[in-house]
Amino acid sequence: MQAEAGTSEATQAPSSEDAPREIACSMTSVMLRLVRSTGGEAAVADLLQRAGISHEPSYLENIENWISLDQATAMFRAGVDVTGDPMFARRVGENTLRQHAGTQVATVLRSLGSTEAVLQAIAQSAARLSSVTKMEAIEAVPGRGVVMACAREGFTRRRLHCDWTTGLLSGLPVLFGLPLARVEESECQTRGAAQCMYTVSWDAELAAAAADPQQRVTALEAQLVAMSERLHGAYATAGDLVSTDDIDTVLHRIVERAADAVRAPSHILAVRTDPSAELLIYSHGIDEGRAQQLATATLAHETPVGDSTLVADVASARRQYGQLIACYPGSVEFFPQEHDLLSLYAKHAAAVLDMSVALEQSTRRHAQVSSLLSLSSAVAQAGTSDEVAERLVAVVPEVVDCDHTGVWLWDYLEQNLRSLAMSGRTPEQAQYHFMSGYTAKLAGTETGVTEPQPNFSTCFGSPFLPLRPKVYAEMLGRRLQEHGAQCWLVNTGWFGGPYGVGARMKLAYTRTMVSAAIAGELKNVQFTVEPSFGLTIPKSCPGVPQEFLDARGAWKDKAAYDKAAADLAARFAKNFERFQVPENIRAAGPKAQK
Ligand SMILES: [Zn+2]
Repeated sequence: MQAEAGTSEATQAPSSEDAPREIACSMTSVMLRLVRSTGGEAAVADLLQRAGISHEPSYLENIENWISLDQATAMFRAGVDVTGDPMFARRVGENTLRQHAGTQVATVLRSLGSTEAVLQAIAQSAARLSSVTKMEAIEAVPGRGVVMACAREGFTRRRLHCDWTTGLLSGLPVLFGLPLARVEESECQTRGAAQCMYTVSWDAELAAAAADPQQRVTALEAQLVAMSERLHGAYATAGDLVSTDDIDTVLHRIVERAADAVRAPSHILAVRTDPSAELLIYSHGIDEGRAQQLATATLAHETPVGDSTLVADVASARRQYGQLIACYPGSVEFFPQEHDLLSLYAKHAAAVLDMSVALEQSTRRHAQVSSLLSLSSAVAQAGTSDEVAERLVAVVPEVVDCDHTGVWLWDYLEQNLRSLAMSGRTPEQAQYHFMSGYTAKLAGTETGVTEPQPNFSTCFGSPFLPLRPKVYAEMLGRRLQEHGAQCWLVNTGWFGGPYGVGARMKLAYTRTMVSAAIAGELKNVQFTVEPSFGLTIPKSCPGVPQEFLDARGAWKDKAAYDKAAADLAARFAKNFERFQVPENIRAAGPKAQK
């Protein structure tokens, strides 16, 4: 009746996600192999059909999958029919550990060291194979053990399941290279007892003999092979572990894992990310000083005195990073498999380092490429050559290592080079002139002043500054950079000559120039760089006669202009001496010299 229930459930073809996770497919994979060995693929198909199982054989052979107790029971029943062996379920149990000698569960069980130790841990081990059965060791000594098994709440113990348990318990000594144990079930839940009781017995003397060093070495070698198989899988997914931020964590983890694989007391990973870079040392189970000493010796291909070392190169197709070292104090032989294992971890470390180096390079390139991309999209939208130039100067410093960029265009009509755009200088010049606060004392502003005198009023408001001038200048520079703002110096003073020769700049022109700058009308005009002060001056401004934009040209006496300019530049420089500012701001000052 219960088998029929299992059949009907199976024909509904539950997906692997929906199926109850009651019996691990390590059981069914053994069933399929036994059935196949007696009657080939046809027998396997017959088994699945009789049991009403819709899973593919590949699903039932993958030990990570699970099926329901009903499905397992139906398969046992069908297995008895297909093979004609009434002890089919017991055979499956006997072969379970033998067939899965390389799995993690078997490796862990073997590491417990003896059959009685495995029996003592039967409660934990049973949970890996079945979630519907509770097992407990009542007694476990060399040569003999008593195990209790019962169905967990909500499940019923089945006779075929008891047979399988008997087989499984008899197969435990196989882990240690011993023959099958004898197992008797003295009480059984299916016969009305409160639980099933199994008495396990094996040859304790033979077990003691098998524990001799040579036997242990054979067992260890089998274990190493099993581990190296698993490691190939771990290596394939190494990429998941990597991010540039935690490369230290990942490399530390590799050293710790290597310690699991090669059972030496100390492990050292010594690598350089670049041939000229500092040697990085990650160690496990050894003090830093000693790790450094050992790594230095093995990197120089010297044999460290007093210790046995196993060394694997940390290298990829790209570069040689360093070495991974396992170390035993005193004299010890390493298994060849251990070198293979250590090499796998070393390759793992090289892969991590490759990725870290590549990520670092690509982060740098990404910034450059983003700048170029934003430039090309900006250029595509630019309407005039000046707009193209402006965008170009903004991007070049992000791609090329430079502070200042200028774009100049040959003007055929004017037969000269025309500056289209400049970057980098303007904010510093603005800061310089803001801090200088150049102005003039005019007649009448102060007692005793009868003609204009050059004057510097820090930040154009010296008496009102509570903080150091540099603070205000930095604030201005930051705002200009953030908003890409332009800063204009407007001449409201004398023009065409010194006081007494030239004339005061007309207020109407000043207003027109300010309006033009604010309205963006100066964006597409030509500029010249005034040589004495290094200021960029528009060659034309709507509504202002061109001669008012050429300071030197307006002076009849050019030599007098140059002398006055040099004199004023010197005053600027002298005034600026009292400020402590970065060199790039000081360098943005007037260039003229006496
Ligand atoms: Zn039983």
